Amino acid sequence: MWPYPSMEDALRDALRLSKAMTFKAAVSQLPLGGGKAVIMGDPEREKRPALLTAFGRLLDSLGGRYITAQDVGITVADMERIRRVTPYVAGTAVRRGGSGDPSEMTAIGVVHGMRAVIEELAGGSREPAILQGVRVAIQGLGKVGYRLAMLLHQEGADLIVADLRRDLADRVGREFGAKVVGEDEILEATCDLLAPCALGGGLNGESIQRLRCRAVAGAANNQLAEPEDGERLQGRGILYAPDFVINAGGLINIAVGLGRGGYDRNKAERRTRTIYGNLKEVFRMAKARKCSTAAAAERLGEDRLRGRPRGRAMERPNSPRRRSFLSTSELERRV
Ligand code: NAD
Repeated sequence: MWPYPSMEDALRDALRLSKAMTFKAAVSQLPLGGGKAVIMGDPEREKRPALLTAFGRLLDSLGGRYITAQDVGITVADMERIRRVTPYVAGTAVRRGGSGDPSEMTAIGVVHGMRAVIEELAGGSREPAILQGVRVAIQGLGKVGYRLAMLLHQEGADLIVADLRRDLADRVGREFGAKVVGEDEILEATCDLLAPCALGGGLNGESIQRLRCRAVAGAANNQLAEPEDGERLQGRGILYAPDFVINAGGLINIAVGLGRGGYDRNKAERRTRTIYGNLKEVFRMAKARKCSTAAAAERLGEDRLRGRPRGRAMERPNSPRRRSFLSTSELERRV
């Protein structure tokens, strides 16, 4: 949910996000397709029960072709509200049998991805990368950004942070010793890794020229404003960890929750570790094909989309009471 300035902006974002979700599921070899819903409105002021209920009814009319989960501006409590009128909701509370907020697993996945990035920056070192002393600038300290800051602090990384909401940034400054800067300064922070964890589209022809990082590795969806920005980053010698590869932890968490065996955190964590190997594969492909990592990731997504099994993977819940549609063993085989 976001206060998009126009219907056209909202539609464009929904289409770009759904394409990214398709690639995300494909690269992580999840038995899911790809889709995204957006709600136009300010989550702080305009999110009302009636709005969420109306959204739930619309979702229900799709009969399970699309299953929603939380993202920007939406919480587990909102998912619970929507769940009252439709079963096609993932990421509901763990105590009620759901997989909970996917943001924590997204942050865990980003940390695995950052290790692959640090290794690549060190020339493809075979030593396991440590994040101690690595300087990370985090843009956006919401559900994912805050957790990422916490994990990186535990790893001994140095943090520079910013959020439109100064209270969120100050909290991370207090709790994790992060340096707080303004939201207009964060992209220019001198750092090893820039982690965009706010809205997408922040990396464009103009902002890329201002970056002072060695690599971009963050959770935001659709970080590049346009496809050419992948080449622009490459041209500046900045290693880009493609968003739909590094931020797949949340979707992996959801896929595990949709399995017939129900949610299992250990399984979700295990599968989230595959992000490390997927990024390594993207970096390898980019070198072999002499293309940007963004182009290599799309290629990997297309390859896996074409090659992956169909049939049960595309099956959907056929009864409102049936909450899961894939056996855990089936997921295990495919993930
Ligand atoms: P959120 O709404 O909880 O947090 C976003 C934060 O970014 C907010 O605190 C907002 O104030 C801040 N922000 C917005 N614009 C900013 C700017 N220009 N400068 C600094 N801060 C800014 O959202 P989230 O769930 O943490 O998601 C963050 C990003 O990660 C989004 O792009 C989302 O699509 C993506 N993502 C989230 C998940 C997940 O599990 N939540 C999974 C994959 C991808």
